[in-house]
Amino acid sequence: MASLRVENLRKEYNRGSIVAVDDLTLEVPDGEFVTVVGPSGCGKTTTLRMIAGLEKPTSGALHLGDEDVTEQSARERDIAMVFQNYALYPHKTVFQNMAFGLRMSTDLSKGEREQKVHWAAEMMGIEDLLEKKPDELSGGQKQRVALGRAIVREPKLFLFDEPLSNLDAKLRTTMRAEIQRLQNELGITSIYVTHDQEEAMTMGDKIVILEDGELQQTGAPKDVYDRPTNSFVGGFIGSPSMNFVDVVARKSDSSLVLTDEVDFRYSLSEAYANEIAVEDGQEITLGIRPEDVHPADPGSDNGVEATVDVVEPIGSDNYLYLDIGPDFIARVAADVEPEPDERITVTFDESKVRLFDRETGDSLL
Ligand code: ATP
Repeated sequence: MASLRVENLRKEYNRGSIVAVDDLTLEVPDGEFVTVVGPSGCGKTTTLRMIAGLEKPTSGALHLGDEDVTEQSARERDIAMVFQNYALYPHKTVFQNMAFGLRMSTDLSKGEREQKVHWAAEMMGIEDLLEKKPDELSGGQKQRVALGRAIVREPKLFLFDEPLSNLDAKLRTTMRAEIQRLQNELGITSIYVTHDQEEAMTMGDKIVILEDGELQQTGAPKDVYDRPTNSFVGGFIGSPSMNFVDVVARKSDSSLVLTDEVDFRYSLSEAYANEIAVEDGQEITLGIRPEDVHPADPGSDNGVEATVDVVEPIGSDNYLYLDIGPDFIARVAADVEPEPDERITVTFDESKVRLFDRETGDSLL
């Protein structure tokens, strides 16, 4: 086990015309489970491959524990990687697949190797599959074998590259829990790449969000959800997405009123408004999550009027699509059932309102 330090890591392709990873600095403490998430092409896989030693950084450094591993080959780094496509040897049995990594990297006796494979197979509940070949296994079983092969070596670091993408939704949920259980029991520092923000939020002790090769934010999932550092993170994390409304700030000594060009008007209380560094007339973007939009009495003094486009029941709650902004959604109780085209009034949970600079997207709170 070991901590990982990523320092100013950069990866260029095509003589610098593509910057896949741009000045990435990260600290992963010993035993922590970190998820890395971001849209397609943001540099997740490249980052992971550089940590694994499969790709050489253009610049920057990697430390595993006290050791600088930047110049080490993949084999020298005590790291195990689990891939989306399992990467099992098709002609070897499950036992041989799992034992292979051990033969390459340690000088254990045959008996010790067997013992370790059986220990890992038991951890993964695949003891009865040991004599089978990969093509006799289901997708879920193959991924268990791939995980077993990773843990049998007891590496310093686990790297996961979208390991559950090929599994159906139900199996994915089971395997998520399984990977978390394993990581808890073994306490191995882990980095888990996914494009699925929900997976990243539920699995990570810490979540790392990338866009265009650059780190956007890192922190505990709930902190990132509640206090996104910019509108990209606010919109990327959470489903359905955070609602955004472009507004102009009207500031006086005692209030901050946000208006748009039509009939949107929302005022922030004095105490809250004082915390925000905006100028009178500044163009900003208001962000509010669907669950923080609530029905209000018509004519209430801080209500926003809206026309209902669509009511979408999801069982426990209803989603109301409102004409306040593009795809503006309120998540309300299942017994709030307005008709399409009905005019309703909503208000926001003020402490959950986020304000962003419209030009840079940076949070103003
Ligand atoms: P996805 O979720 O689609 O797998 P990703 O976040 O893992 O994407 P990367 O695969 O790391 O993204 O790619 C980051 C950027 O670097 C992309 O613009 C990609 O096209 C580019 N890239 C990756 N590998 C190479 C390569 N070998 N040569 C040139 N460009 C590359």
